[in-house]
Amino acid sequence: MTCKGICTRYKAQKPVGTGRYASGQKRCQICEIFIKWEGLWCPCCGYRLRTKPRNLKYKAKLRARVEADSQLESVAVKAAEVEEIEVEAVVKKPTRRVKTRKDIVKKVAMAPVAIKA
Ligand SMILES: [Zn+2]
Ligand SMILES: [Zn+2]
Repeated sequence: MTCKGICTRYKAQKPVGTGRYASGQKRCQICEIFIKWEGLWCPCCGYRLRTKPRNLKYKAKLRARVEADSQLESVAVKAAEVEEIEVEAVVKKPTRRVKTRKDIVKKVAMAPVAIKA
């Protein structure tokens, strides 16, 4: 269980605006490195990777960040809903006008047909 230098290939950059664990990075205690790796074991030394911070303070921070993220998501969904409604309202107005115009055209077109028959 020693570092073979393979982990540097998977070295993860420090994410902006979020924590390393929150962005899915894992920590190898043997290689002393954060890596982007799907497995539970270090691809370099074979040691079990950390997926969560050890410090309780960090854990609370991570949880708060996740909660804030989900709140942001719901706000974004609400904003999208409002946008959809607004777009619908804008689209409906001209659609109705076109329909009435078509109705008028139909009525006008019906008149000569009725005379022919
Ligand atoms: Zn390593
Ligand atoms: Zn390792």
